[in-house]
Amino acid sequence: MSDTDGKKPLGLGGPRSGQVKQSFSHGRTHAVVVETKRKRVLVPNPAKPGAPAGGGGSGASHLGDPSKRPAGISDAEMERRLAALRAAKAREQEDNARRAEEERQREEDRQRRREEIEAKEREERQREAALRAKAEEEERLKREAEEEAKAKAAARKADVLGTQRRQPAAPAAEPAPVAVPGDRGAGQSRPRPGAAPAAAGGEADRSGGGPKPGLTPRKTDREREDRATDRGAKRGEDVRRAGKLTLSAATGEDGGRQRSLAAMKRKQEKARQKAMGFSKPEKQARDVQLPETIVVSELANRMAERAADVVKSLMKMGMLVTMNQPIDADTAELVIEEFGHRAVRVTDADVEQAIDSVEDKAEDLITRPPVVTIMGHVDHGKTSLLDAIRKANVVSGEAGGITQHIGAYQVKTPKGDLVTFLDTPGHAAFTSMRARGAQVTDIVVLVVAADDAVMPQTIEAINHAKAAKVPMIVAINKVDKHGADPQKVRTDLLQHEVIVEAMSGEVQDVEVSAKTGFGIDALLEAIGLQAELLDLKANPNRAARGAVIEAKLDVGRGPVATVLVQNGTLKKGDIFVVGEKWGKVRALVNDKGETITEAGPSVPVEVLGLDGTPSAGDVLDVVSSEAQAREIADYRISAAKDKRAAAGAATTLEQLMAKAKADKEVAELAVIVKGDVQGSTEAILQALEKVGNAEVRVRVLHSGVGAITDSDVGLAEASGVPILAFNVRANATARSAASQKGVEIRYYSIIYDLLDDITKAASGLLKAEVRENFIGYAKVLQVFRITGVGNVAGCLVTEGVARRSAGVRLLRDNVVIHEGTLKTLKRHKDEVKEVQSGTECGMAFERYEDIRENDVIEIFEREEVQRSL
Ligand code: GDP
Repeated sequence: MSDTDGKKPLGLGGPRSGQVKQSFSHGRTHAVVVETKRKRVLVPNPAKPGAPAGGGGSGASHLGDPSKRPAGISDAEMERRLAALRAAKAREQEDNARRAEEERQREEDRQRRREEIEAKEREERQREAALRAKAEEEERLKREAEEEAKAKAAARKADVLGTQRRQPAAPAAEPAPVAVPGDRGAGQSRPRPGAAPAAAGGEADRSGGGPKPGLTPRKTDREREDRATDRGAKRGEDVRRAGKLTLSAATGEDGGRQRSLAAMKRKQEKARQKAMGFSKPEKQARDVQLPETIVVSELANRMAERAADVVKSLMKMGMLVTMNQPIDADTAELVIEEFGHRAVRVTDADVEQAIDSVEDKAEDLITRPPVVTIMGHVDHGKTSLLDAIRKANVVSGEAGGITQHIGAYQVKTPKGDLVTFLDTPGHAAFTSMRARGAQVTDIVVLVVAADDAVMPQTIEAINHAKAAKVPMIVAINKVDKHGADPQKVRTDLLQHEVIVEAMSGEVQDVEVSAKTGFGIDALLEAIGLQAELLDLKANPNRAARGAVIEAKLDVGRGPVATVLVQNGTLKKGDIFVVGEKWGKVRALVNDKGETITEAGPSVPVEVLGLDGTPSAGDVLDVVSSEAQAREIADYRISAAKDKRAAAGAATTLEQLMAKAKADKEVAELAVIVKGDVQGSTEAILQALEKVGNAEVRVRVLHSGVGAITDSDVGLAEASGVPILAFNVRANATARSAASQKGVEIRYYSIIYDLLDDITKAASGLLKAEVRENFIGYAKVLQVFRITGVGNVAGCLVTEGVARRSAGVRLLRDNVVIHEGTLKTLKRHKDEVKEVQSGTECGMAFERYEDIRENDVIEIFEREEVQRSL
C-alpha cells in the first residue's frame, strides 16, 4: 500500500488500482489508493536505438504531429517510423492484455490453493475450537457468577458499559468487538470512538488481570486482535488471508486490519507445512509380525516407531536394553500393545505349515522295525556288542557282504524280523539327538559288564533312558569271563529302580558275550519281543520324515547325511528340508553300500544332494517344492540366529517353576543334582522329595557325585532342567557348554539355601536373590610355610581377577574344600588389592591352612538381584 493520498497513480498502466479504507482507533478512517506493482515494458525506439521506451506512448503522438517532427526526416521515413511505432503499440497492448490474463489466472490459482488450505485448516481449528469453547464457556459461567457481585459496584462507575451487549467476562473468554475482515457481516458492532479504552479499563477493573486503563489503545488493539484470531477460528470464519494485501481483497472491503507480522509468518509456515504434507499424520495401527525373539531395533522398524522410543518404553517396564539387544516375544508384545499396534505371532509352525502334518489313519499303518541304541559304562563292551551283532548277521549269510559304517545298520532277528541299530554307542549321542528334538530310539540296550557291575555311567544311562521314557533291555556282558557275576549286576540294578525279570520285574535281561557271540540271538529275540509290546507303526505311503544320525562332508560326494526314516518313504528326487539345510535326494545308499531308490520306515540311508551339512538330530521333512524348502530353511536359519542371540537368557528355576505350575498335568519341577560327596547328595535328594506341595512336585532327573560334566549339561539341555550343584563345580568344557546352551547351573554351599530356593520357587515366594559372580580362578603352584603367617599359596591367576576383598573357595578336583576370605594377597612382596589374570601372586586363607599344590582357588563376589517371574 502506498500512501499516495489523492495523487495520481504513477506508471503507465491502465486502471489497476483501487481504494482501501483504513480505520484507526478513535473511529478515524482514511481512504487510500492502492496499486499493484507492474513491470515496466520496454518498447524499442527505432529512431534512438537503446533509448528508454518509457516514453513510448507519448513519443508516438509526438512523432505523429508534423509540427513537432524533428528536422531532416522525410515523409517516407516518418511513415515508416510511425508504422513501426503503431505496431509496437499494438504489441504492447497485446502483451498487456496477455499479462493481465496471466496475472488473473495466477491470482485465481493462488486464491484456490489458499482456499483449499484454509478449508483444511478451518476444519481442524473448528474441531479444536469446539473443545476449547466448551471449556471456556464453563469457565466463563463460573467466573460470571463470581464476578456478578463485584461487577455491581464497578457497574456504577463504568455506567457507559451498560450499553454494551455483553456481560462482562474474562478478557480471554470475551470476544472483543474487533473489526476483522468479514466480521461485520456477522453483525458485530464496530469499535466506537473512545469506547475501546473505556472498555479495556472497565474490564481491567473487574477482572483485575486485564490491560490497565493507562495502556495505550494501540496495545489494546493488538490484544483484541489476538483474541479475534481465536474467535474467528472458533466460528470457522474465513479470516485468513495471505500476507499480501491483494487488490481484490482490498477493494472488496472498505477497511480492515492486518495481523502482526509474526502471526502472519506463523500462519504461512503452518500452511506451507500442511501443503507439503509435514503435518502430523494420523497414527496408524499396524500388524507387527512377532517371532520368538526380536531385536529391539527390528521391533521398532516393524512398528515404524523410533527405536529410542521403544527403548524408552522398555525402560519404563524395567528392562534396560539397548536397541541391538534381542527381547523375547512376550515382552515385545507388551511393547507393541503400548504403541497401539497389533502383534501377530509367527512361529515355526506358521512358516513350516508346508510340512505335511496329517495324522495317519489306522488302516494305513504297518509295523516298522524297532530302533535300538546301546548304552552303558565305558569298557563294558558296547562297541564289541554292536560288532558282534553285525558280524553274526553278516555271517548268517545275507547277500550284500560287509556292512558299511554309516551310523546305523539293520539286522534280522532269528524270527526274521528286522531291527535297526544305531551305531553310535553311548548316551552322549543319544542325548544330543534328543536335545535336537529327534527322539529316534525306541529301545535302549543297557550293557553292563558282569565282572564290573553298575558304574557311574551305567547310572547316567539309566537316567537318560528314563528321562526319554524309552524302555530298556539289560545285556549282561562278558559272561564268558572268569569271575563274572551276573547276579551281582541284577541286584545292583535294583538300587537304581531297574528291576529285571529274573528279579520278578519287567525289564528283560539277557546274558551275552560279545567275545564269543553267546546270547546274541537271545538279545535280538528280546528286542523283537519288546518291539511287539511297543507296537511300532508307520505309514510308508506318505511324504517322508526322518532324523539325521550322522552327517559329514565327503570329499567326492559333497555333504552326506545318514538319515533314519521314521515315517513315510524317502525316494530319489524328493525335495526336503533338514534342520537349516535343504536339498533334493540325488542318491540313496543303504548300510550295505548299495544304491537304492527308496527307503521306508526305520531304514537308515545315506542321503546325497544336500546344500550343506546338517547336524545329528536334525529332522528331515519332505516338502512339495524347492521354494518351500528354501523358505523353511531360511526361516530356521534366522530363527536359530535369534535364538543364539538370546541364549544368554537361560531357562531359570523360576521360569521352570512357573511353567510347571501353568501346566496342570505335569506339575513337577525336574532338576539334576550334583554333590560333593555321597552323603550330602543323599541328604539333598531326600529333602527335595519332601519339598513338593499340592501344586508342584520336585523330580530329580539325575543325581551324582563329583564335578558337573558335559553329559550332565547335555541331559539338562535335552530335558530343559536346571542343575543344582552342591559344593561342586562344572569342569571347563561343561561350563562353556552350559553358557552356550543356556543351561542354568545353580551353585550352593549350604544345603538349606538349596532347599530354600526350591521351596520358595515352589510356593512362588521369590525374594531378592544373592547371586554369586565368579570373578576369577587361581591355581596353586606351590605352598610355602611361613612362620607367623602360616601356609601361603603361590598361585597363578588363570581366569579373571583375584581380589583381596572378595570371597574365596578352595576347590580340589572341582569339589569345594573350604570357603572363606583371604588373609593376604601379595604380589611379590607387596600387599595388593587386585591381581589380574596371567600373573602370579601369594594368597593365604583366613583361619585355614590345608592348601595343597594343584588346588584351585575360586574368587567370587556376592550381588543381590531382585528376582522376577
Ligand atoms: P565300550 O567302551 O563300551 O564300547 O567297550 P568295548 O566294546 O570297547 O570293549 C571294551 C573291552 O572289553 C574290549 O577290550 C573288549 O575286547 C572287551 N570285551 C567286550 N565284550 C567282551 C566279552 O563279552 N567278553 C570279554 N571277555 N571281553 C569283552
